[in-house]
Amino acid sequence: MEELNTTENVACPICNTTARQADAFCGKCGYPLKGEKQEQENFKQTQYQLEANLSMANHQIRKGGLTLYILSGITFLAGIILGFIAEPDFVERMFDAPQVPLGIVLLILSAAYLGLGLWSRQRPFAALLIALILYCTLLLMDIVADPASIIKGIIWKVIIIVALVRGTTGGYKAEKIKKELHLKSY
Ligand SMILES: [Zn+2]
Repeated sequence: MEELNTTENVACPICNTTARQADAFCGKCGYPLKGEKQEQENFKQTQYQLEANLSMANHQIRKGGLTLYILSGITFLAGIILGFIAEPDFVERMFDAPQVPLGIVLLILSAAYLGLGLWSRQRPFAALLIALILYCTLLLMDIVADPASIIKGIIWKVIIIVALVRGTTGGYKAEKIKKELHLKSY
């Protein structure tokens, strides 16, 4: 009979990996191929829950990455306009900084946000945590230099911080869930 044929391959119903019919567990996801019906049902439930949580975490990671791309774009424009287009006198009065160096610093910052946004696809937790620390450090420097600056664009600052905090926690959760799902990449 077919059941006696131990060299026959079967597809895991969870991850579709080919397993030998003799295997008790799927080699990739650990599904109990030979388990009791209840055991298999429990495994499926846990797996679906983990996948739902992973997709939620990935959504937060993507939003965090998007926030970094937007920050990068705004900083890039600010760097070009303030550093190379605006009146030097105006810039020096407004920011108390020499024009071209200010522009260059902003362009470097823009590149850093872009790089962290791209990196957040591979290492979301590390990339978004670094971005969060970088952004908060800059805000603090602003506040130290001019305490009144805390009010400026406060809603945007809060939105950006919330998006980066959520992205960071999403990255942490996603990495944990992926370990549980036995996936090496996604
Ligand atoms: Zn499997």
